[in-house]
Amino acid sequence: MQLAGKRAVVTGSNSGIGLGIARELARAGADVVINSFTDSPDDHKLAEDIASQTGANVRYIQADMSKPEECRALIEKAGGCDILVNNAGIQHVARIEEFPVEKWNAIVAINLSSAFHTSAAALAGMYEKGWGRVINIASAHGLTASPYKSAYVAAKHGVVGLTKVTALEAAGKGVTCNAICPGYVLTPIVEKQIPDQMKTHNMDRDTVIKEVMLSRQPSGEFATVEQMGGTAVFLCSDAAAQITGTTISVDGGWTAL
Ligand code: NAD
Repeated sequence: MQLAGKRAVVTGSNSGIGLGIARELARAGADVVINSFTDSPDDHKLAEDIASQTGANVRYIQADMSKPEECRALIEKAGGCDILVNNAGIQHVARIEEFPVEKWNAIVAINLSSAFHTSAAALAGMYEKGWGRVINIASAHGLTASPYKSAYVAAKHGVVGLTKVTALEAAGKGVTCNAICPGYVLTPIVEKQIPDQMKTHNMDRDTVIKEVMLSRQPSGEFATVEQMGGTAVFLCSDAAAQITGTTISVDGGWTAL
């Protein structure tokens, strides 16, 4: 198995893209730590289910990625990691003049600063082993902008910058760092927006998806969590050993427009 003997930590992975990446890393043979800020029986059951489906060793560790000390404690509790996927993220949409300060602070903390804290805790262990992969989940919004998403776009551009610095500091040590930039992926958070959009635009579900959500995605299709997982597994492969400090768009052509 490609990733046998490697330990992966995926932040914000009890749902959506993080869960898809955790599954694909487990399928590729890695031991996987899944995470969120909750600590429910369902979270631990999820880890058991992935373990039984893949044969991998999968644990759930609760840690709130809005809190620097919990980001660092996650890596310690995991026992360090060979593969770090910084995926936890939240969104809020409002004009800058009306953007709540606490939402700005939470988005910057969870979507950007958490990746700094987990990387700070994980890199020394990777350098010691002479092998490591840091994969930051940015967004098409790490490369381009939309109105009303100031905190998210600023944080995701910050993630791309952090990715480049991490790659430069890790260069020559067997450790790479890259950002995956998804376009629209039909995760629970996106699914929940559909009824509101149907009301706002007075459209049916299919028209909202096609004309509102996927209007910037030339393929006209959602990207999938399995595709994000497959891209993460590729970035962990030997073929990707010289890919570092860059972004990989998985966005149906969004950023080519
Ligand atoms: P999601 O809501 O399904 O997943 C977000 C995950 O982050 C969940 O597991 C949630 O529990 C976790 N999380 C939230 N706050 C946390 C906290 N304080 N501490 C720990 N975990 C926390 O959404 P998703 O679509 O899977 O998003 C995952 C990542 O992908 C995010 O960084 C998001 O910005 C990015 N992304 C998503 C899309 C998309 O279209 N879905 C597009 C581009 C980028």
